[in-house]
Amino acid sequence: MTGKRSIVLFWILLLIPTVILAAVGIWLLSHEQERLERRELTALTRQVRATADKIDLSIETVQNNLSSALVTLPETDLESRLLSWEAENPLIRNVFIYDQQLIYPQKSMAATAEERGFITRFEMFFSGQKEFVSTLPVAETAPAKSAIEGLYSLSRAPQTKSALSQRGGWIPWFSNNRLYVLGWVQKHPNEPVYGVELELMAVLSRLLPQFPPYEEQGAIVALLDGSGNYLIGSGPLPTDDSRRADVEVSLSTHLPHWTLVGYRGTNTFGGQNSFMPFALVLLGLLVATIVLGGAIITRFSVNRMKDARQKTSFVASVSHELKTPLTSIRMYAELLHSKRVKDPEKQQRYLDIIVSESGRLTRLINNILDFSRIEQGKKSYSITTFTLDDLLAGVLQTHAIRIRTAGFSVNTEGLPGDYQVNSDREALEQVLLNLIDNALKYATGGSLLKFIFKQNGSTCLLTVEDDGPGIPGAEQQRIFDRFYRIDTSLTAPQPGSGLGLSIARKMLRDLNGELSLEEKATSGAAFTMRIPTDGKD
Ligand code: ADP
Repeated sequence: MTGKRSIVLFWILLLIPTVILAAVGIWLLSHEQERLERRELTALTRQVRATADKIDLSIETVQNNLSSALVTLPETDLESRLLSWEAENPLIRNVFIYDQQLIYPQKSMAATAEERGFITRFEMFFSGQKEFVSTLPVAETAPAKSAIEGLYSLSRAPQTKSALSQRGGWIPWFSNNRLYVLGWVQKHPNEPVYGVELELMAVLSRLLPQFPPYEEQGAIVALLDGSGNYLIGSGPLPTDDSRRADVEVSLSTHLPHWTLVGYRGTNTFGGQNSFMPFALVLLGLLVATIVLGGAIITRFSVNRMKDARQKTSFVASVSHELKTPLTSIRMYAELLHSKRVKDPEKQQRYLDIIVSESGRLTRLINNILDFSRIEQGKKSYSITTFTLDDLLAGVLQTHAIRIRTAGFSVNTEGLPGDYQVNSDREALEQVLLNLIDNALKYATGGSLLKFIFKQNGSTCLLTVEDDGPGIPGAEQQRIFDRFYRIDTSLTAPQPGSGLGLSIARKMLRDLNGELSLEEKATSGAAFTMRIPTDGKD
């Protein structure tokens, strides 16, 4: 299977499970979200119902206690007893005595504004249009359940014969769209009806402890009147008008039309701030990690494949490079050995070829050995003090014939000077040789090999310049990559392994120097070796 195909297969095998995982994840998350919402709604419904029960019980207790007190109130001086009871009990808003007509408060000028309001509210009863009955409809619509049973059962009044003729109850009454509650008692059919109006505000303040404690952004339970106005609750209602209550429960007949509402909190996973976005981000991160992992593996494999390809072509070209000089050496050596060549000039030429080809072989083997040492991190350097001009002179002397044969003349600039450095002589010699070799190989049509010396502070610079075709702009950085060879009609036919420049740069960097390609105004290539004089940066 080709590399490309296996990468496509890898991505198919990676992406299909990832997409399935993401889809299943989203499906499970949305189900979990619904389940949490349902669970929270159930909990809130329970909480609202429990609060409604507690409120009912509290109201019932308040009414029963007041009823007991009303029943046991002595008949003598009833008016002043009722008035002093009203003065000391905050749960009583108004008191009254009715006997065919209102005895107290009287609808005279002396009545206070509050009393006049009270008389107006319950006008139907005080004018005789409605009877005080034990089964009391509330403003036509209220459920028909009286508190009279509660009144008697909870009253601490002794169950005497006369008690059996007692009547009484609680009347929830609507006036001007507001709820008022009236409690009454008639001990004997011929005796007056008397009673109290409940102070609902005081009752409400007693109900407050029945609500769940307030938590910032937590669930809210609130009591609303018949018009939907907020009365009390565990916290402020949500400001968002469009948000409807999640739970709505009507209170019992004690407070008809009043409702208890519940809103889910916004700080819970199942609430308004659902955990969905959070979970989706996590899921997205997981998918992104898988895809990123895939991308890293792909990149790694592509690099490995590229490396493998480069190594294969390296082996092929190196074998070819080794074979070419070896064949020449062997051929000329055999010719000389057979003693068939008698002409001394020819003999000398053959010997020169053998020397030059074995030099080429040595340089190639040195490069390969250095490459493998550098790859394994085993390359070591021996630092000595020498001068660069001396080094160049030695190299030029050894390779003079080769340079001349290739048709190049040598020009040196910047001498004499003090180009003493502390470095590895052999390594620098090899760098220089690689640069000269490249110039001889690739500067076809060129005729001048220039060496320029410069000193820049504590750095010595040696530039090797030729007047060949140079290196195209797009290739200028890549030529330093290992195994990289420019594939043009001019350079491709030349033998090479793509190692020379990468080894040269690596060795110079190891020695705290640098090898760089210079911009050149005229055609040709110029490489500069930067070598620190003291061997340090
Ligand atoms: P090799 O010479 O073995 O191919 P190098 O690493 O020494 O490997 O060089 C890399 C490439 O850079 C060469 O293949 C060649 O195309 C280009 N190159 C190097 N030096 C020169 C030069 N002086 N002129 C033109 N091209 C060059």
